[in-house]
Amino acid sequence: MHRRDLLKASALLPFLTAGATAPPDWAGLRRGLSGTLVRPGDASYDQARRLFNPVYDAIRPGGVAYCASSADVARYVSFARTTGVPLTPRSGGHSYAGWSTGSGLVVDVSRMNTVAYRDGLATIGAGAKLMDVYTKLAAHGVSIPGGSCPTVGVAGLALGGGIGVVARKHGLTCDKLESVRIVTADGRVLDCDERHHDGLYWACRGGGGGNFGVVTSMTFRTHAARDVTVFFLHWPWARAAKAVKAWQSWAPTAPDELWSTLHLSREHTALDVSIGGLYLGGQAALERHLAPLTAKLGPPSSRVVRGVTYLRAMQIMAGGPAVRESFTAKSHIAYGRLGADGIAALVSHVARPGRHAVLLDAFGGAISRVSPGDTAFPHRRALFSVQYYQQGTSRSWLRGVHAAMRPELGDHAYVNYIDPDLTGWRSAYYGGNLDRLARVKSTYDPDRLFRLPQGI
Ligand SMILES: Cc1cc2nc3c(=O)[nH]c(=O)nc-3n(C[C@H](O)[C@H](O)[C@H](O)COP(=O)(O)OP(=O)(O)OC[C@H]3O[C@@H](n4cnc5c(N)ncnc54)[C@H](O)[C@@H]3O)c2cc1C
Repeated sequence: MHRRDLLKASALLPFLTAGATAPPDWAGLRRGLSGTLVRPGDASYDQARRLFNPVYDAIRPGGVAYCASSADVARYVSFARTTGVPLTPRSGGHSYAGWSTGSGLVVDVSRMNTVAYRDGLATIGAGAKLMDVYTKLAAHGVSIPGGSCPTVGVAGLALGGGIGVVARKHGLTCDKLESVRIVTADGRVLDCDERHHDGLYWACRGGGGGNFGVVTSMTFRTHAARDVTVFFLHWPWARAAKAVKAWQSWAPTAPDELWSTLHLSREHTALDVSIGGLYLGGQAALERHLAPLTAKLGPPSSRVVRGVTYLRAMQIMAGGPAVRESFTAKSHIAYGRLGADGIAALVSHVARPGRHAVLLDAFGGAISRVSPGDTAFPHRRALFSVQYYQQGTSRSWLRGVHAAMRPELGDHAYVNYIDPDLTGWRSAYYGGNLDRLARVKSTYDPDRLFRLPQGI
């Protein structure tokens, strides 16, 4: 091989994988598509390649394909299969590890974002953002259980589970998934439900994004969206340990209608402990449920309890428009309550200098009434999730607090808080569901077209 040929071939190396037969014809790829392919040098390239987290702004994909239909997606999948260009699906772009971009082709479904409602079912384009889903469904007086960030994509959320503010009453997002349309590695467009491709349907409810194909549409069962009550209570930092102890006994066993989250945070020198949440009912009944908690903790230093419409509650729980800021995160899923040592370790790590937070979200209720093997999301018997969040690009505080909590919390973690430096991630994310997930993977993607560093 001549030196020039060698150079040409090595330029292709990042794109070529075993079994690839043809060099990528990017220009040809543009023909016959209803969506848009953005390439380096195009005016919109820098915007198109960005994820939510600026930590990944330096990554430069070979192309970002905004798909308009399942047929577009199938075309890109076959391009990746025949050329060996690595393919990465993207919906809302909120992957904690930046695994919805890469050096190859990003297949973006964000323009496939329609929300159609009929007879209690919502059929939602895979790239729809959560706040758009809530807003469009509110016009029909219904909703689906989702997460709190307004710009998270519905596909990325539901594929990994979907923890949200009505989960104790209505379940995880994936629990309401009736059927899913997905483009598999062989380019087929499959409609999966209990009776068709049931293994793949099962895997799409907690198996995690980026593993089995590109989802293009999801149909969910909806629930009625009636007025609710939201609450936010703050206590002085001196009550932090007491708050953790009281909350973890109260929150996972509260009535299903009551969901809550406990936050411990440090922002420069300011330390804060708060318990907030949402009650699917009126203010007077909520006050009765809060009474045992406030009796243990003493009167809050600040207190807001307010009746609002369901949609307004989703906007409030979102905490305003999502702002792009660099962060890193790790998680635990807690199957038991923290003992005195665990609580002391948690509180003392939050008190260390920096800008970081720990967020505990209550499980129980409808989440726990599904068996661990009924969907691919295994953590049905857990009491709450624990998310460690650090602003900026460093992971040092995260690693310290995670290691300190391991003796108490073990190794369970949530795949949607995907963690690039988690060891033992297979069992941490999937528990006893790992073997079945591996079988689904080998049935639908035997050559591993869909890969990610923590891929099944
Ligand atoms: C600010 C913020 C708030 C959050 N709040 C919550 C919350 O309240 N509850 C909760 O459960 N989680 C929450 N998360 C985590 C969130 O659920 C995950 O990050 C989720 O994977 C994001 O989905 P996405 O579509 O936005 O991300 P993306 O980065 O687009 O995708 C995430 C993963 O899924 C894959 N993927 C994306 N689209 C598809 C598709 N169409 N088909 C197949 N695979 C696909 C990607 O390749 C990637 O591996 C939050 C995240 C952030 C950043």
